[in-house]
Amino acid sequence: MKKGKKLYEGKAKIIYATNDKNLVIQHFKDDATAFNNQKKDVIEGKGILNNRISEHILTQLSNVGIKNHLVKRLNMREQLVKLVEIIPIEFIVRNIATGSLTKRLGIEDGTVLDYPLVEYCLKKDELGDPLVSREHILAFKWMDVFELDFIYEEVRRINDFLQGMFRGVGIKLVDFKVEFGRSEIDGKREVMLADEISPDTCRLWDMRTDKKLDKDRFRNDLGNLVEAYQEVAIRLNLLHEQSNIRPLNYPKPKAVKIKKK
Ligand code: 5GP
Repeated sequence: MKKGKKLYEGKAKIIYATNDKNLVIQHFKDDATAFNNQKKDVIEGKGILNNRISEHILTQLSNVGIKNHLVKRLNMREQLVKLVEIIPIEFIVRNIATGSLTKRLGIEDGTVLDYPLVEYCLKKDELGDPLVSREHILAFKWMDVFELDFIYEEVRRINDFLQGMFRGVGIKLVDFKVEFGRSEIDGKREVMLADEISPDTCRLWDMRTDKKLDKDRFRNDLGNLVEAYQEVAIRLNLLHEQSNIRPLNYPKPKAVKIKKK
């Protein structure tokens, strides 16, 4: 597969063309951003972990019939994926109230929801990705009713599957964001899960301690982000304890001075 020119660069990923018009390469960067780009940093190793974790999750979802854009992982930072036109809506599913939901509605942080809550946000950085309703989506033709109903069912299935997968490794899936895209191959139109599912796009809390194992470590200056993402990868059996990704705060070996006699 030949890597072609850069088609698009986002906050955490770059998309490159390939010699197949229906496939592109998705490259995971180490850049971390929050609060609509107001906070930025580069966190060594983050892209590698997200690439691996997202590959695992999308493969598992594919195995249970959730169609998605992943073809295969190519290397430490890159995946081959189907070319899709991203639908300009972020789909958020919440199991426990936290983050923008608690701020917006004054709900107590940590409230366990009786049913998963599905929210829609318009993907528009300059407006701060505002919450929109089904009626907004249909009125402004961001999706048609068939796509909307299909994705609503898909995100609930994704939530069920991921909740079980993470529960099995002692992690609570608090909430997550997913994106969908449209593809058209040989005149056949499809809507499928796209982008990534990783600790950058989910809130993951340790089952016993509620320790945050996700991007909130960056958003809220908790530190040790790479170690937290590594812990998720280790629990999912994707990484051994002896990782070759050196955590940021790992002390550099001191130069040893040899005394001359
Ligand atoms: P909240 O609306 O509480 O900020 O986020 C809800 C969930 O969606 C969290 O898991 C958060 O990580 C994810 N999320 C929402 N918007 C974005 C976004 O623009 N980028 C990323 N990476 N995740 C998002």
